[in-house]
Amino acid sequence: MASIFSKIIQGDIPSYRVAENESFYAFLDINPLAKGHTLVIPKKEVDYIFDLDEDTYNGLFQFVKQVGNAIEKIIPCKRLGMVVYGLDVPHAHVHLIPLQGVGNEVNFSNPKVELSQEEFQQIADRIKSAFDNKV
Ligand code: AMP
Repeated sequence: MASIFSKIIQGDIPSYRVAENESFYAFLDINPLAKGHTLVIPKKEVDYIFDLDEDTYNGLFQFVKQVGNAIEKIIPCKRLGMVVYGLDVPHAHVHLIPLQGVGNEVNFSNPKVELSQEEFQQIADRIKSAFDNKV
């Protein structure tokens, strides 16, 4: 059965897309630890990130950097945290989380930021514009 993230890539489940190319896809985490919390995934469905073939693994992290640069242009933050957790969804993914430097911000038990659909969409659109070099 296709993972929930493969269904997102195929458009069967909606997502707030921030960037995409032939091999990779980035979208807002629906339970964000911070505004702009983004997931970056390979379109190829592989559960464990360290099982990715060399090209996909290297390509994923090049894409992560490009997406990260776009997030930093839009979301004021001290740094962008990069986390690979992957215990819930069996499809390799990298979390990019804007950090304010106040400590304990990458604790997945923390309360999530509540955003309206409009706010999610606006953040995604702005990051996408930055990714497309339009801002
Ligand atoms: P983990 O596998 O532990 O890295 O966590 C999976 C992450 O995927 C969690 O942060 C979820 O909030 C996120 N997530 C699960 N389903 C969706 C979805 N449909 N759209 C966006 N993010 C999702």
